[in-house]
Parts: sequence; C-alpha cells; structure tokens
Amino acid sequence: MKLPAVCLAVFCALPLTAQSPLSQWPQHSKERAAPAIVAPGAYVSQAPPADAVVLFGGPSLSRWTHEAGGPAKWRLVDGAFEVVPNTGALMTVDSFGDAQLHIEWMSPTPPRGRDQDRGNSGVFFGGGRYEVQVLDSHGNVTYADGQAASLYGQFPPLVNASRPPGEWQTYDIVYHRPRFDAAGKVLSAARFTVIHNGVLVQDNMELVGPTANQSRPPYEKHADRLPISLQDHGHPVRFRNIWLRDLEKR
Ligand code: MG
Repeated sequence: MKLPAVCLAVFCALPLTAQSPLSQWPQHSKERAAPAIVAPGAYVSQAPPADAVVLFGGPSLSRWTHEAGGPAKWRLVDGAFEVVPNTGALMTVDSFGDAQLHIEWMSPTPPRGRDQDRGNSGVFFGGGRYEVQVLDSHGNVTYADGQAASLYGQFPPLVNASRPPGEWQTYDIVYHRPRFDAAGKVLSAARFTVIHNGVLVQDNMELVGPTANQSRPPYEKHADRLPISLQDHGHPVRFRNIWLRDLEKR
C-alpha cells in the first residue's frame, strides 16, 4: 500500500530507535513489562510561580470551556472540579505551544472497575492530539502503554509512582510541540517530560505521532498554539491547582 506523503515525511524525520515501541512492542501489548512500583514521597502542593498562568485555582472554571465551546459542564467540589461523566471534555479558553504544566488529580474512591475502566481521564496537548494518561494505576493492572503517566499507546512511564484512589497526585509536564515545515513535513516531534508525584517518569520522549487507541496515525500539521484539554472517559476524576508557564513567551 502506498503511504501518504505525510506518513513518509514522519518516518523520514523519525527513524525508529531502540526507544520506539514500533520497533519492539505491538501497541497495548500485555506482554510488555509493567513498570516497577515506586512509592512516592509525601504529597506537596506546588503553588504557582510568579510567571505562571493559573488555569484553575478554584473556585471558577472561567479559563475552561466545553470541548465544543460553551460553558464547562463539570462540577466544582471542595476546591477542585470533577468530571461529570458523558458530558464531554473540557478545554482551555487560551491556546498554548511549548509549556510547563502543573496539574493535580485524584482517582475516584471507592475505586470502581478495572483495567482502562478505572479512574480514566487524560491531559491532552495540541488541541486534543497528544495525551498524558490519567488512570487509577494503584493496584490496577492494564497494558503498560496505557497506565497512569504513560504517553498513551506509545510509552509506558519509567516507573509506577501512583498514589491510591482518593489521594491527590501531581503531574509536572514539560511539553514541546512538534514543528512542521510549510509543506507539513515533521521537522521535530512532540516531546514530553513528565514528573509524577515528584518522580521522573517520562524523560524527554518523542512521540511517533498523535495519540490514538489501537492505531498509530502519522502526524498532521497543525497550529503552533492550541488548547489543552481534559478527557471525559466516563469516570468522576477530580482536578485542582492547575497552572502553566508559557515557554514560548520567555
Ligand atoms: Mg485517558
């Protein structure tokens, strides 16, 4: 089958390496080893630094909209906000490119379901394209490239630093957007560094394309600055203390 030009461009820009799941593991493989469990240190709330944009400090969702526009439909509770299942994702009013994001989240307690059907949400960059997975991965087995702090469908976290459901967890994410030339060829891939509960779990990883379930589609050229979004996967996951440093405005 002839590959579309954009696909060829991606493969030119991103030769398969030893890190690439495309060269080692089928997507969502249950044979892929589960990351070692590392108990994190005590929770510490990280207040926003002076140059951060506060995306949620409670009690307002004014910096968020429904994914289709219009008011956010999730509920405010105890200084946080909670997914109202099946109402749709939230996205930021503003758009961002390269960024440092701090976000805190809590899996529902008591836990319900198993595998991917337990405390599932996600933090997406690039207008819904690139996901850092949110999942209850405390005593919950799923495929390695789909557990908490995975770059979904591509890279498991280096270790499993999850806290139990009902406890606040932190992600500190550094995102670099992909770069494209005028024709749409990928000049550099999207890159993620992720710290989960103070533990490095993604170390400057290059995505092979946008996030997808049971497929690995190629990159497609998109705008430099796009909203960040939070996934409605049907589970009442909570979020709070969300702030961002815009790395393109330095
Ligand atoms: Mg998810």
